[in-house]
Amino acid sequence: MTITLTLRDDADADALRRRLQGLGLWSELLRDPSGAPAALLVKPHSQTIPTPALLDLPGVDRVLTSQSAHPLLDTQKGTPVVLSRGERVVTLGAGHEPVYALGPCAVESEAQIHAAAESVAQTGAHLLRGGAFKPRTSPYDFAGHGRPALGWLREAADAHGLLVVSEILSERDVEAAAEYVDLVQIGSRNMSNFALLRALGSAGCTLLLKRGVAATLSEWRLAAEHALHAGAKAVVFCERGIKGIDAETRNTLDLGGVALLVAEGHAVMVDPSHAAGRRDLVLPLSKAAIAVGAAGLLIEAHPDARDAKSDGPQALTAAELTALVQATGGSR
Ligand code: PEP
Ligand code: MN
Repeated sequence: MTITLTLRDDADADALRRRLQGLGLWSELLRDPSGAPAALLVKPHSQTIPTPALLDLPGVDRVLTSQSAHPLLDTQKGTPVVLSRGERVVTLGAGHEPVYALGPCAVESEAQIHAAAESVAQTGAHLLRGGAFKPRTSPYDFAGHGRPALGWLREAADAHGLLVVSEILSERDVEAAAEYVDLVQIGSRNMSNFALLRALGSAGCTLLLKRGVAATLSEWRLAAEHALHAGAKAVVFCERGIKGIDAETRNTLDLGGVALLVAEGHAVMVDPSHAAGRRDLVLPLSKAAIAVGAAGLLIEAHPDARDAKSDGPQALTAAELTALVQATGGSR
């Protein structure tokens, strides 16, 4: 069982932790994204804890008890995730229009991402995707232009009223992520990179947490809990396919897992591009994702897929993107 004590604004967190120690309870201080003390998480304990006595401690607002292994993730249930920058506001979750994050696999040049932003905005989509840092299976493949590409992506998105989603691979780039990226993607290869999750969490980022190719739903939830525990503003899940028994589709899209997390009240995006690995399946899988309650879609596009530096076979054209947004029922 976990016990979380939420704190009043005027609480003296240090004094409270000493009082808890006096009761034989170790605790951890959780801060809100502004750095202010928000709650004390009481460490696992063996004795029965009298919760009314905890409520009487000075500065304690509420005592939350839970059998759950992920109490912070549970507090997100049913609460839509809001992304904002200036006037631009995008809301992901039940009861809201599907959110579309569209764009190339990789930011290949400044001109390419500006052209992509223009066609993405024309579809009515909300977010521009593009990889500045690319995790590649081979060290000889194009690995992205790095930090400069984040700047190009930001400018292109700003010029077309879009928000930015982009993958961060290293703790070194946390500051750049907080500055340039509105929804920070954790790629499937890094779902269990807890140091990275925690570093981005403590910068107060909102994360798009892709599922690891062999991760269970429970491992996925606990990865989200790591990020929230470190201070992440919110976590949006992204199903992008897991290793199946057959490679004819690149990965196996687990829409059952999506339906389950949606039923639990979480915001879940679906990435049919990396699941299918081929463009002809992106539209049917997108329709299926929306049918099971996905909060949005992450989809790759490229104006000249044969020339794409990564993931060409799954990239849609601008016209196909527009048709997909219309067929799946939503835009601003
Ligand atoms: C991507 O979005 O381009 C990507 C590398 O995704 P994944 O981590 O799902 O492979
Ligand atoms: Mn890709």
